[in-house]
Amino acid sequence: MVVGGGPGGTSTAITCAQEGLKVLLIERGRPHRHKPCGGLLPEAARDVIEDIVGAEIPDDIFSVPTDLSLFYVPPSGRSNGGRVRNYRILNIDRDSFDDWLVTRAIMSGVKVKFGASFEGFTDDTNEEVLFFTQEGPQRVQADIVVGADGVRSSVRNAMGWNQSTPLLLVAQEFIDIKDRGDLEDCFYIFLRGDLSPSYAYAIPKGEGLVVGTGVMQRSSPSLAESMQQFREWLHEEFGVPREKPLRKEVWALPFGYFAPGRENVILVGDAAGLCNPFSGEGIRLAVESGEAAGLAIVKCEDPKNAAAAYVEEVRGIADFVRDVLEFVLELDDDKREKFVMDELARR
Ligand SMILES: Cc1cc2nc3c(=O)[nH]c(=O)nc-3n(C[C@H](O)[C@H](O)[C@H](O)COP(=O)(O)OP(=O)(O)OC[C@H]3O[C@@H](n4cnc5c(N)ncnc54)[C@H](O)[C@@H]3O)c2cc1C
Repeated sequence: MVVGGGPGGTSTAITCAQEGLKVLLIERGRPHRHKPCGGLLPEAARDVIEDIVGAEIPDDIFSVPTDLSLFYVPPSGRSNGGRVRNYRILNIDRDSFDDWLVTRAIMSGVKVKFGASFEGFTDDTNEEVLFFTQEGPQRVQADIVVGADGVRSSVRNAMGWNQSTPLLLVAQEFIDIKDRGDLEDCFYIFLRGDLSPSYAYAIPKGEGLVVGTGVMQRSSPSLAESMQQFREWLHEEFGVPREKPLRKEVWALPFGYFAPGRENVILVGDAAGLCNPFSGEGIRLAVESGEAAGLAIVKCEDPKNAAAAYVEEVRGIADFVRDVLEFVLELDDDKREKFVMDELARR
C-alpha cells in the first residue's frame, strides 16, 4: 500500500505494479490537487523520470517558457552574476505533472483512492492501516506500507520519527505581471546569507512570475522579512515592479534528516528527507527513491525486511543529500561568491 500520490508515491506504485504486485494508493487530495512548487526540472531529470514512469512527459504539462537558462546572482549583486553555460531547466506545471503521474499509475494497474487520508496503524505490526474517506473510517490489510506523504508525513509520525525532522520553511508568491523588468527567460537564483541559508528565486511562468525564499524555522529574518527584502533586491537589481502578489503560499522542505522507515514501513521522497537542501530540487529525488522502494519491495522475500533492503537501494541518494547539506551549512557570503564564480566558469 502506498500513501500519497505525488512523484514519490506514484513512482513507487508504478515500479511495484510493473513487477506484478497488487498496489493500493491512497491520496488525501482530489484529482488535480495543488502542491506548492516552482515546477522546475533539470534537463537530466527528464530521462530519469521518463525511464521510471515508462512514457514521455506530455507537451501540455509544460509551462511557458518551456525551458529556462540558469542565472546566478551572488551576494555582491547582478554585475558579478550571469547565466551558466550549456545548462537548461524544464519549466512544468506541477499540478498537471502530478495528474499525469497518477494517470500513469492507474494505467499500470495501481488502484487509486482519492480523498482518502492515512490516519495510522491499528497495532504494532503495522499490517493494518486506518484511513478516512468521506464515507467514514476504513481499514485495510497491507504487507508493506510506503509513506510518500510529503514533508509533514503522517506515516513518519505514526512511526514516532517527527521529533528530529528539521525543515526549511519556504514562501512562494505568484505575481501576475507582464512587465518583468530586466528578467529574461531564466531561473534566477539569488544567494545572500542575510536573506536565506539556501537561496531566493524568481521563475517566469506563463503571464507572471513565481518568486520564493526559504528560512530555517524560528530564525531571523522571518519568512515575511526575507520575502520583503528579496522583492526589494529584485526591484533594485532588475527593475521588477513592486506589484502585490496574486497568490501567496507557505510550505516546507526537508533540511537535514534521513528517515527511511522500519521493517515493513518505508518512507520515500520528502517524507524520508530526500530533497536537495541547496537547490530545493525534490521531484527527481522523490521519483528515484520511489523506484528504489519499489525495487526493494520486489526483491525482499520477507515484508519485515523491506525497509532494510530499501536502505541499501537508496544509500547513494541519501549520501548525496547529506553531502549537499554539509556544503550548505558551511556557506558564508564569501563562499557563495566563489561558488557563483566557479559555476560561471564551468564549460
Ligand atoms: C515552494 C516549493 C518549491 C519547490 N520547487 C521545486 C522545483 O522547482 N523542483 C523540484 O524538483 N522540487 C521542488 N520542490 C520540492 C518538491 O516539491 C518536493 O520535493 C516533492 O514534491 C516531493 O515529492 P513527494 O512525492 O515526496 O511529496 P509530495 O509531492 O508532497 O506528495 C505527497 C502527497 O501525499 C499526499 N498526502 C499527504 N498526507 C497524506 C495523508 N495523510 N494521507 C494520504 N495522502 C496524503 C499529499 O496530498 C500529496 O499529494 C519545491 C518545494 C517547495 C515547498
